[in-house]
Amino acid sequence: MEHQKELILIRISGIDRPGLTASITEILSKYQVDIMDIGQADIHSTLSLGILFKCAEKDSGNVMKDLLFKASDLGIDLRFYPVSPDEYETWVNMQGKNRYILTLLGRKLTAEQISGATKILAEHNLNIDGIRRLTGRIPLDEKKASVRACIEFSVRGTPKDRELLQHQLMKLSSSLAMDFSFQQDTMYRRMRRLICFDMDSTLIQTEVIDELAMRAGVGEQVKAITERAMRGEIDFRESFTERVALLKGLDESVMKEIAENLPITEGVERLMYVLKHYGYKIAILSGGFTYFGNYLKEKFGIDYVYANNLEIADGKLTGRYLGDIVDGKRKAELLQLIAQVERVDIAQTIAVGDGANDLPMLSVAGLGIAFHAKPKVAANARQSINTIGLDGVLYFLGFKDSYLEERGKL
Ligand SMILES: [Mg+2]
Repeated sequence: MEHQKELILIRISGIDRPGLTASITEILSKYQVDIMDIGQADIHSTLSLGILFKCAEKDSGNVMKDLLFKASDLGIDLRFYPVSPDEYETWVNMQGKNRYILTLLGRKLTAEQISGATKILAEHNLNIDGIRRLTGRIPLDEKKASVRACIEFSVRGTPKDRELLQHQLMKLSSSLAMDFSFQQDTMYRRMRRLICFDMDSTLIQTEVIDELAMRAGVGEQVKAITERAMRGEIDFRESFTERVALLKGLDESVMKEIAENLPITEGVERLMYVLKHYGYKIAILSGGFTYFGNYLKEKFGIDYVYANNLEIADGKLTGRYLGDIVDGKRKAELLQLIAQVERVDIAQTIAVGDGANDLPMLSVAGLGIAFHAKPKVAANARQSINTIGLDGVLYFLGFKDSYLEERGKL
């Protein structure tokens, strides 16, 4: 029976308007053809429609004639391409190729950035299937503080060298003031469920331990140690014990004052609102202090907080902590534990942080994002955000501004 069937690809292009696809498929339905593949895009009001169909050999002449009449009626361009069974096999295999999503993000996008990124894709034999803008219309006034631009490339193929590709994109992004993420396009990418944040210098623009130290009169001393620890130059646990000891005698009322004045990072409110709205589980995994994590938990409806507890006696810090230290290794374990409890595959998890003690969790998470990170962290992370606020994370998850604006207040 098969030899009496014919495979035909039609490609249609023209100015788009409602009803075009309906008119074309109405003709196909008259001849009872089977659709083997169909794809359509509308870019700036220009339609591009492709249909691969199988029809009875005896009908193919009439199908083509009817379609051509219709196309001329509608003022659109229509072309036919007969497809052999071998060509069809090749087509099917191409569809099965790996897919990736490359997201570019910045205060603005330039031709230089796009040319640089697409050149790298081409060097790795990756083919671009689609490009879309995730941010709302870019305002003409560049000076607006809220200006940002994000586009997403849907890419097909297998990179020649994934590590090299990552490295090239990283170099490009730091030289051209943009951020990027390069992710495999799987169902997990679209269904992330759990997001774990570092707290200090990620959700808030300070290191709380430095704030406490300042009020204890040991500010400079502690700040220097914190910086070295976050850059990964000294052991986190050892330096943590040392710094907490210096806080001895500080009045506990200071904690409340600091908590109420925490400088929240740009974009956090929007990010939290959206994540909660779409059902994500949210955790703070912090090498800082539980007291402040709990304050943010209340403020933003965060689900889990794991951090360190300061010992208090007679209303004063004792210079000691209670329980185990949450260090880098512990953060990664906690992410995996929460994923288990929430019955979430590790591929559906996201981690965001800036410090060397975040690296372990950034590498176990399905998506690890370095945020305004220390150099060592940025160099080791698969994706990073340096150019805009924390709500930039939403673009790496594929959220479009237009979806969010429909829900109001976002
Ligand atoms: Mg941090």
